[in-house]
Amino acid sequence: MKYKHLFGPVPSRRLGVSLGIDLIPPKTCTLDCVYCECGKTTRLTTERREYIPVDNILKELDDYLARKPELDYITFAGSGEPTLNNKIGKVIEFIKKSYPHYNICVLTNGTLFSDPSVRAEVLKADLIIPSLDAATEKIFQQINRPHRDLSCKEVIAGLVDLRSEFAGEIRLEIFIVPDFNDTTEELQAIKQAIEKINPHRVQMGTLDRPGTENWVQAADKEKMQQIASFLGRSELIGEFRPRNKIASFNESYNSQILNTLRRRPCTLEDLHHMLNLHPAELQKYINHLLAIGRIETENRDRGTFLKLKSEHRGLA
Ligand code: SF4
Repeated sequence: MKYKHLFGPVPSRRLGVSLGIDLIPPKTCTLDCVYCECGKTTRLTTERREYIPVDNILKELDDYLARKPELDYITFAGSGEPTLNNKIGKVIEFIKKSYPHYNICVLTNGTLFSDPSVRAEVLKADLIIPSLDAATEKIFQQINRPHRDLSCKEVIAGLVDLRSEFAGEIRLEIFIVPDFNDTTEELQAIKQAIEKINPHRVQMGTLDRPGTENWVQAADKEKMQQIASFLGRSELIGEFRPRNKIASFNESYNSQILNTLRRRPCTLEDLHHMLNLHPAELQKYINHLLAIGRIETENRDRGTFLKLKSEHRGLA
């Protein structure tokens, strides 16, 4: 069976070996974050509906999971905000009923949890990783560029409610964008929000791959450590581990990407169309190649291009 809505298993530094489920067509989201690795949001919405027919997803899951793959997590992630699909609860129920030994993770921007029905739909998951990059309206607008119906205050309140209702683990993720959410004022507001939400863990990341806007910079390691100690109880998202040591790493994808880039530099979207790989899965291989220094990025009019590093051009 050819899978359209499942991707991976993707070797992930946060989740080990994770099978992705994408419930949303690209690029549909409640936010349009400046650092998004999936590119600009083309459908900015808070409307919940069955964007991908749930029966198609259940058929793919049944086919895949019947083979008893070894997975650390089945993860809702992909081309936008997964809770926008109003059948996410049905998919979670199906997995828990038919394949109860698998752990389920929801990677979410957390913006819809002020709605009690959205919270109810994810309660059977094992791990929820919501992001919260801002705790003031101004910085929320600047970094996350939300749909007009959303406010930072309500997002935080929704996360507080989720924490009190959800029995699993909540890992709050904060993406640091230098000069925006690393000011004393914003960090103090974020710290207060963390105290209110009281997640089990707080993890911080910064740019390590091309974002939507080329002006977004990575925070340096020292700054990240200072912020982590200021916020307290927060940790940096793990250092890079060689992904090719993970069983689901597919060496042939690596070669296909390198061979394509040897012919000409491409954007992530170009590679997605040319290689027919899900963008989220593709991104993991790109991250690996960036981290080991085989490829580099270059900003051009049409976006961020990936190209072979000059010293590797004859080696792909
Ligand atoms: S919430 Fe996630 S998918 Fe949506 S724009 Fe931000 S980073 Fe991209």
